[in-house]
Amino acid sequence: MNAIPQIKTATAEATPLYVPAGNECELFETAWRRQLPLLLKGPTGCGKTRFVSHMAKRLGLPLSTVSCHDDLAAADLTGRFLLKGGDTIWVDGPLTRAVREGGICYLDEIVEARKDVAVVIHPLTDDRRILPLERTAEVLEAPPEFMLVVSYNPGYQNILKTLKPSTKQRFVAIEFDFLPKDQEIAIVAAESGLEERRVAPLVALAHRLRALKGHDLEEGVSTRLLVYCASLIESGLSPRDAIRAALIEPLTDDADVRAALFELAKAVVA
Ligand code: ADP
Repeated sequence: MNAIPQIKTATAEATPLYVPAGNECELFETAWRRQLPLLLKGPTGCGKTRFVSHMAKRLGLPLSTVSCHDDLAAADLTGRFLLKGGDTIWVDGPLTRAVREGGICYLDEIVEARKDVAVVIHPLTDDRRILPLERTAEVLEAPPEFMLVVSYNPGYQNILKTLKPSTKQRFVAIEFDFLPKDQEIAIVAAESGLEERRVAPLVALAHRLRALKGHDLEEGVSTRLLVYCASLIESGLSPRDAIRAALIEPLTDDADVRAALFELAKAVVA
């Protein structure tokens, strides 16, 4: 068996608040100890990124987070030669850096990235745990502390943007969803500073709006949007204006659907 990674001493910075839904913290730590890569599945804004930064802090590991997009290629992760004062120097990308320093590399929304990214992560996600760098003719062996974490949102109805089974099967996976009402109220109150009794109707509205996913809406209201909405109210904006700006406008561009959602909001948040 490979060497066991050691937890480094935590730094002075506070560990970001994360309220677990189940045993995901234990699962993360066990996967890290056994040097297994991790896949987080779930809708946008439900706490995946927060979970990873919380765990990185808890385990005392450096974290490189990359938000993947359709122009992101393997070289953006591994690194490139750059011209500097007449010289050509190699600059590590975030994945190479995480491998060299033994940290966590988190690739958020990996399905958005170009296809060559899957090729680069393959030898890191089996027992070889290596990163071949063709351009510098190096083959880096990941230290025990290194961990690859990726996320994607299986809810998007786009056949072209889904993770290939051959890639999916290289990861231990955790499914994320929005938290039950009481826990979500507690989080939104803690993050925004708005009292729980004023947050409760916003969360009730979010649950109603989430039920419309797949009918009139592609995506439901995220916990992130609830935090935005509660923060606006806490800063003095009227609940109606905050709900319109943070919970309804971002959900759809269809004017009729927006009007219907706003009517629903008025009924729920009187
Ligand atoms: P994702 O990565 O899934 O898109 P984030 O991790 O960015 O979502 O979550 C969005 C926001 O929601 C966070 O910044 C945090 O304020 C809040 N949040 C969601 N879930 C949790 C949780 N379980 N514990 C603490 N905060 C949470």
